[in-house]
Amino acid sequence: MAATATTWPHGLDPQLAEPDLAHLEGLPADRLLAWAVERFGRRFAVVTSFQAEGMVVLDLARQADPGVRVLTLDTGRLPEETYQVMEAVRTGMGLQVEVVTPDPAEVAAMAARHGPNLFHKDPALRRLCCHVRKVAPLDRALAGVGAWATGLRRDGGGRSRAATPKAELDAAHGGMVKLNPLADWSREQVWAYVRTHRLPVHPLYEQGYTSIGCAPCSRPTRPGEDERAGRWWWEGGQERECGLHTRLLGGGPADPGDRFTDALDQLRADADARRWERANGH
Ligand code: SF4
Repeated sequence: MAATATTWPHGLDPQLAEPDLAHLEGLPADRLLAWAVERFGRRFAVVTSFQAEGMVVLDLARQADPGVRVLTLDTGRLPEETYQVMEAVRTGMGLQVEVVTPDPAEVAAMAARHGPNLFHKDPALRRLCCHVRKVAPLDRALAGVGAWATGLRRDGGGRSRAATPKAELDAAHGGMVKLNPLADWSREQVWAYVRTHRLPVHPLYEQGYTSIGCAPCSRPTRPGEDERAGRWWWEGGQERECGLHTRLLGGGPADPGDRFTDALDQLRADADARRWERANGH
């Protein structure tokens, strides 16, 4: 059973086809972002979790448009330090930040059925938590957006990111344009840019973190480890992905992806029941 597909109202821009994207692949990060701002205006957004790569994308994007839209996901489980960086972006970089949050009915239903720390129980439940707190809110936030930009790098951890293009059609979001302006940047280039331009730095880097997400699902990495080894480390050989950039699909009865799909179906029924009870005064 495959993961649930979504139909999107904004759809693929009919004037933008594959050859245009191939041309974009050769653009440096600043020109790629300038193209997006010129082409999409307010329908372009940077989505960031305020890691080093995100700060570079924000800085380059604001040079093209000082009022560029910035979206971030507040999962409800973020470390305090992430809010500190968010505030530095607002006050120090002068950017408005649109905070996207999960559906409260889904969070409540998930916690009621599986407990608050369900991610430790089963990879399928970890995916469920990431879906409710990250993937579904982003899906909703991107409605009406024509193009979005991320801070993904090809050498930023694991096989799943090795082929990251600079520009792609995002099938998971109705074929909108997804830009990864730093796809061909190294970690060293990112940090050189951050230091040269004195951008805000997430405080957890100083504590040995090399990839920062939710507090219970991120830890510092050790020398020699992959930079995303501190994300969901208890899952061993699984891909270190939450589903925002790689849709996590099922493949068979024992596959965590199939258990995820079953758990998601059940969660939606639970959340619908909660909404019905609230609407009917129960
Ligand atoms: Fe839930 Fe952890 Fe995913 Fe955050 S990273 S949404 S806490 S499973």
